Amino acid sequence: MHPLAYKYLKKVLEEKKLVGPDETCEYYPCHFVGQDCTWCFCPFYPCEDEQTGGEWVKTKDGGRIWGCSNCYWIHKSEVAEELLETFKKFGIDDVEEIEKRKEEIKKIFSVLKEKHPPDKHKKQS
Ligand code: SF4
Repeated sequence: MHPLAYKYLKKVLEEKKLVGPDETCEYYPCHFVGQDCTWCFCPFYPCEDEQTGGEWVKTKDGGRIWGCSNCYWIHKSEVAEELLETFKKFGIDDVEEIEKRKEEIKKIFSVLKEKHPPDKHKKQS
């Protein structure tokens, strides 16, 4: 995990609070006005699921990287909130848990997606 993602997620998991729209961030709104910024660094990264709006992007050196610019789903308030509650419920309160419990995280992703189907063409605000 990228060190910035690690640091950010650690704080969110410790504080156990939704961030909501962070208008103090210089990049806000990086997706849509009113977005929930709790999962600015996504615990599902890289989900590799284009239904979210995420996609493979070509890099300058000919490689590819998973890009999340068009994923509005995780920033929808009900999705952000339910994910936080789910993590609390399953005792996922540290970044190490996210890294260790990969299969469970995948399952949480599927259940969340089923309950709140993403519509990649809409901002879902
Ligand atoms: S596309 Fe969305 S759900 Fe997938 S890793 Fe990126 S931010 Fe997370």
